[in-house]
Amino acid sequence: MKLYEFEGKTIFREMTIPVPRGKVANNLDEAKNAAAELGYPIVVKSQVLSGGRGKAGAVKFAENESEMVNVVNGLLGMQISGERAEKLLVEEKIKISREFYMGITLEPQSSLPLLMISAQGGMDIEHIAKNYPHQLFKMHLDPVQRPKNHQMIDILLKTGLNGKVLTQAANILSRLVECYFKYDCVTVEINPLIIDEEGNVLAADSKIEIDDSALFRVKSVSCFKRKEEIPDPFEAEAKSFGVSYVGMGNGNIGLIAGGAGLGMASMDMISAYGGEPVNFLDLGGGATADKTAASLKIVLKTPGVRGILINLFGGINNCEHMANGIARVVDELKPLQTIVVKMRGHSQEEGWAILEKRNIPLVKYGTTEEAVRLLMQEMKKEGGL
Ligand code: GDP
Ligand code: MN
Repeated sequence: MKLYEFEGKTIFREMTIPVPRGKVANNLDEAKNAAAELGYPIVVKSQVLSGGRGKAGAVKFAENESEMVNVVNGLLGMQISGERAEKLLVEEKIKISREFYMGITLEPQSSLPLLMISAQGGMDIEHIAKNYPHQLFKMHLDPVQRPKNHQMIDILLKTGLNGKVLTQAANILSRLVECYFKYDCVTVEINPLIIDEEGNVLAADSKIEIDDSALFRVKSVSCFKRKEEIPDPFEAEAKSFGVSYVGMGNGNIGLIAGGAGLGMASMDMISAYGGEPVNFLDLGGGATADKTAASLKIVLKTPGVRGILINLFGGINNCEHMANGIARVVDELKPLQTIVVKMRGHSQEEGWAILEKRNIPLVKYGTTEEAVRLLMQEMKKEGGL
């Protein structure tokens, strides 16, 4: 989950990373009050999740109230990379003497958190990496052990920082590392980390992305949780059962598979035999009878579905449980669509028996290709093709 700048700054404050004084405003009145409290000059920043707001003209300054009114009217509701700014962050305007970059992100190649620091701040990291590669300093972080103070000082020294500013930057860096691990982040970034004219170091921006899989244990961000907009109601329903759903537009065959790989292979095979997959539900690991039943119900109510291939493997999953889920729906809804099941693995005999009892066409030892062929045959028999 990506956090808005003001949310990230709430976390920074909690981690005692200094940030400019500021307030969130939802409308002009709130912005007026915020500005009056902070005193001019101010910075007004659109709160959207995409970066590059500076370049997009979504970060503006105001010296007085009439400028502020213009700025706020221009920014509220502004579209930035397709995202509408509903909130603004009004902050004291800091007189910047230098801008730095400081960030930690999970590096896919090494599967390790990568700390990056540069004296080229204020531009995005991709730009720094491309144009100033020799001024970008990197260090992998040990996921278990925090870096030592001297290591953090060493990397900061490379950017040319010294004296009191260096001490402050080192403090901020160690808190940023703490923040990264405490909040199970994928990315934390301060860009720019600014030095004001008095030599104070502050985070002028925040970018935090928390690992979605860890949200359940990062309790303190639950107040930031937002309704995810899933435009497809089937996808939303599947998600509510913990099943992933891919809609394919028009077609005549629904697919439920255990694992994305098996699912994609099945889709190819369906296409090869002249079928058109309309959607694909991946039960993944932990497929219970409930999840299987919920998935089948979604596929059954998908418009245009004439045939359903259920291609499951009992590895971590249990075939008996999954068959029970299928049986429950078949008993309850007595669907007219053709259903073919291929199921093998853990507790397969028990699973097969449940399906055979209901005369559901079944592939026991055969391949996905055989299952698809059987589905096509059965659909022809029943007039579905
Ligand atoms: P981003 O473009 O979405 O990353 O937005 P930022 O929060 O980084 O803001 C863009 C730029 O606005 C920064 O790089 C700064 O140069 C400038 N900026 C932000 N806050 C202040 C401030 O308090 N004072 C001054 N002078 N400039 C600021
Ligand atoms: Mn920024």
